[in-house]
Amino acid sequence: MERDVRVLWHPCTQMKDHEQLPLIPIRRGRGAWLEDFDGKRYLDAVSSWWVNLFGHSHPDINAALKDQVDNLEHVIFGGFSHQPGIELAERLTRLAPSGLTRCFYADNGSAAVEVALKMSFHYWRNTGKPQKTRYITLSNSYHGETLGALAVGDVALYKETYRPLLMDVITVPGPDCYHREAGESWEAYSRRAFTHMEQALERHAQEVCAVIVEPLVQCAGAMRMYHPVYLTLLRQACNRHGVHLIADEIAVGFGRTGTLFACEQAGIAPDFMCLSKGLTGGYLPLAAVLTREVIYQAFYDDYATLKAFLHSHSYTGNPLACRAALATLDLFEFQLTDRPPEPPLPQGEGRVRELKEASATMAHPTSNVLSNNRHLSRCMAEAAAPLQDHPHVAEIRQTGMILAIELVKDKATKEPYPWQERRGLTVYRHGLERGVLLRPLGNVVYFMPPYIVTPDEIRLMAEVAMEGIESATAD
Ligand SMILES: *Cc1c(COP(=O)(O)O)cnc(C)c1O
Repeated sequence: MERDVRVLWHPCTQMKDHEQLPLIPIRRGRGAWLEDFDGKRYLDAVSSWWVNLFGHSHPDINAALKDQVDNLEHVIFGGFSHQPGIELAERLTRLAPSGLTRCFYADNGSAAVEVALKMSFHYWRNTGKPQKTRYITLSNSYHGETLGALAVGDVALYKETYRPLLMDVITVPGPDCYHREAGESWEAYSRRAFTHMEQALERHAQEVCAVIVEPLVQCAGAMRMYHPVYLTLLRQACNRHGVHLIADEIAVGFGRTGTLFACEQAGIAPDFMCLSKGLTGGYLPLAAVLTREVIYQAFYDDYATLKAFLHSHSYTGNPLACRAALATLDLFEFQLTDRPPEPPLPQGEGRVRELKEASATMAHPTSNVLSNNRHLSRCMAEAAAPLQDHPHVAEIRQTGMILAIELVKDKATKEPYPWQERRGLTVYRHGLERGVLLRPLGNVVYFMPPYIVTPDEIRLMAEVAMEGIESATAD
């Protein structure tokens, strides 16, 4: 720990906090658990910043990587190619909502967002609409922290300082259902919120390249959630107004919301879909932007027309990362289901995508990962339910494998705790003491565990969160 703070600068951290707050070096991870150098274990309730899907040090992903490293660790992806890169693109385009037939790699989520923004602008330029230079984004959205990605986000904590550097975007009040009226349904509120988007598109469509959204859950924006109908309406409106739809599924993709991709619950396909985080099962940085053939074709021409997309990253399509991603997809696709079919989901949660149609070559046609996750989601709901009546819990909300508990000063008015009080930090500290890694977003405590978590571990997670919330809201 001493060596660390002498030389390192950690992400999303006021380093001075570590004068008080222990920094925890981890020696190894197994399944949902991390272990420090004193042998103390921590249940990873946040999937190490939402990246881990099937646990730490998974034997299948480990084996795939060991094999890959003995064959090809990396090769330039301009002019050269490799098996894992090709196979991953084939499988992602097969699994994605229909029409997304092209895959462009980048090496992290923010870079994927930059790629989608640039591609959209460039498409319109290549097709004779250079006046389209702006983007529409939702309030409380988050798309990463490089300058372009930060510009299309709206979380003040990350954005405000850098505002003078950022391109100007059109920010529309979003469908965040925390703000719905008492008694109003998620669907009704999400529909009502859409009028702001409709107006913005009517006014600005001529100058707008794309609308960018996080489907169903605004994760970094404190796990705020909305109804899929918003995405359905948005898809229709984007079509009507001649504007692209960018779905940033970096956090919500790969089963987090109950379906393989969140867009499926709205029955839509975006024009660009950004993937990262869980893509490699939490092993290595990799991102993919999937897009449509018509967009690809607008760049496909003789070199001298200068229509090509000349964007690149040194580690584009890294074979190790692609191989980890393939092993992760195997874990989704090749597990036999030993459970009877689940009853249909309550309205709003939507349908579970049958992986059957995705590939004729699969050994076992259905994924039991998603159906097992439905069981785990119910366990999470039950475990957190006792907090419903807590005087400082404004709301417990859930979409699939993401459950969030919003702490407030006043339950009746939803008056928040002043951010300076850092109530969430008390929950974090308590979690560490009790061996559960909970890392609240401000005053929102959430669970986003790996899919191999057990019901007992979920109950532990909830119990520790409850104790932490009790002590954080005691005065
Ligand atoms: C994490 C995240 C990003 C940024 O990904 P990084 O790999 O951290 O750059 C972008 N969009 C969403 C929705 C995210 O949750």
